[in-house]
Amino acid sequence: MKIFYDFFTLLKDRHKLRVRWRRNNIKRSSKRTYIKDKEIARARVHQKLEHFNQYYGFTWGRVAIRNQRSRWGSCSKKGNLNFNYRIVYLPEELQDYIIVHELCHLRMFNHSKAFWALVGEVIPDYKIRRKALKSIPSLRR
Ligand SMILES: [Zn+2]
Repeated sequence: MKIFYDFFTLLKDRHKLRVRWRRNNIKRSSKRTYIKDKEIARARVHQKLEHFNQYYGFTWGRVAIRNQRSRWGSCSKKGNLNFNYRIVYLPEELQDYIIVHELCHLRMFNHSKAFWALVGEVIPDYKIRRKALKSIPSLRR
């Protein structure tokens, strides 16, 4: 997707992954943009879930794409997954991290060491990706 580079620049070296967010570009998206980007997000999320689940082999329930301000993704106890439609504006490395993180909650409903180990099996550098994600202002809690 071209547009995400209008929002983010991914800065990467051996030790760090940083996201530079161009604040000026965070406009409230029009309803038309939202509907369009939400469908792009839906397709992307399903594609990535299937991709990473080739490794994990988990089972999930419903997948919802939402307009939410405070989080990128979540997993319910029933195994339903939610993702923020803004995920499409993120660099692919961060999209992957979000997908894998929520996938792993299907197995472990906590953030224990075992949970992170499970994430790390597929995304060994998850720590720097997580940090980069947290540095994005609009979704900082
Ligand atoms: Zn989590």
